[in-house]
Amino acid sequence: MSKNTSTEPLALLGGPKTIQKQFTRYNPIGAEEVEAARKVVEGGLLSQFLGCWDPDFYGGPKVQEFERNCEAYFGVKHAVTVNSLTSGLIAAVGAIGIEPGDEVIVSPWTMSASATAILHWNAIPVFADIEPETFCLDPKSVEANVTPYTKAIMAVDICGHSADIDALKVIARKHGLKLISDTAQSPGAMYKGKFAGTLADIGGYSLNYHKHIHTGEGGIMVTDDDVLAERMRLIRNHAEAVVGDKGVTDLSNMVGYNFRLGEIESAIGIEQLKKLKGLVATRQRAAERLSCGLNGLKGLRTPVVKPDCSHAYYVYPMVYDPEQTGISRVRIHQALVAEGILGLGACYQNIHLLPMYQKKIAYGSSGFPWTSDICHREVNYRKGICPVAEGLHDSSYLALGICMHEFADEDVDLIVEAFRKVWNSLEALR
Ligand SMILES: *Cc1c(COP(=O)(O)O)cnc(C)c1O
Repeated sequence: MSKNTSTEPLALLGGPKTIQKQFTRYNPIGAEEVEAARKVVEGGLLSQFLGCWDPDFYGGPKVQEFERNCEAYFGVKHAVTVNSLTSGLIAAVGAIGIEPGDEVIVSPWTMSASATAILHWNAIPVFADIEPETFCLDPKSVEANVTPYTKAIMAVDICGHSADIDALKVIARKHGLKLISDTAQSPGAMYKGKFAGTLADIGGYSLNYHKHIHTGEGGIMVTDDDVLAERMRLIRNHAEAVVGDKGVTDLSNMVGYNFRLGEIESAIGIEQLKKLKGLVATRQRAAERLSCGLNGLKGLRTPVVKPDCSHAYYVYPMVYDPEQTGISRVRIHQALVAEGILGLGACYQNIHLLPMYQKKIAYGSSGFPWTSDICHREVNYRKGICPVAEGLHDSSYLALGICMHEFADEDVDLIVEAFRKVWNSLEALR
């Protein structure tokens, strides 16, 4: 048991720190992964992809096995592994037949690759606002941003919670749009009985080292569509060199790359996938304990889990209302960090405010693609277009990076104690 410090002065004001220990770094890799990787290395075949039309166009035995296991696990017709989700999203946007100048509606509350995957094909990212509860695309804002040039929606299942996929599907169907889910942060999260990421035309999970399960770097794309799956496999592996012999006649976006995942990573991925359910359950347990402990703190909203959904807690996202306490988020954040809480973030990202979009300088230095003829209209990236995302970023979002450490019950209790201590001393912070 830790000493109850809640009556002592805040660490920020010279008192003792609530949390003296370092939490254990999150590490889902164990003996199974070591053994699986060792076997591949001993066999000497570290990759078996050939970039031409050949049985090995689809990769080696571990890539195949991992993909079949992912299909079974997520309940999808096709899983296509890639060397990162960034690569996978590029393949996905290419696969749906995007044309230069097409617009794709995307969330600003995400990692930058969700939008650059669009820009990569000289298509135009259009930012819609997010819902304050889940931080995912707000269908109303998406609908308001549809133009005759819109081709697709890139929904992002952020923080561990699915976007409102049913509502987005209604909009997609109404306007003839494709729907892509960037589910990097939410593998294992559920939406109405199905895995987040599996309900869009294409979904994808990241396997980078700070995601729930990882292979160092890597990604898994999922789809039930045979054509989209095959087009992603082509873009993954030098499409332009394969289409001739394969007899592919639709040459659109058959510009290929090397987005291939290796055999070592796939062997590790096979073991990681077996652990996903347990890893998500562990985070849910920690998050529920946190939410219980933090319940009732003035101005603090713990994560919202919508009906028929489950949260995979990539982070534990909170909203703090400075109006209710009279203390800015910056000050509260400083006080919490001073108490020894590790991995507490005070803001996330507003992708539309990155210099690239503000200055509209991407390919070359003269504003391509925005200034070129392929761009149908002047797209607005100015501050103010996504008031909810901007407000959260500027003054009210707080998130505990559950992805960075193991959260044993006693660690969670220490975090709760630190929060309660700070909230007991709000007067001293004013
Ligand atoms: C991590 C992440 C990505 C990119 O995944 P990589 O595998 O690192 O390329 C994309 N989108 C979101 C929301 C992410 O969190």
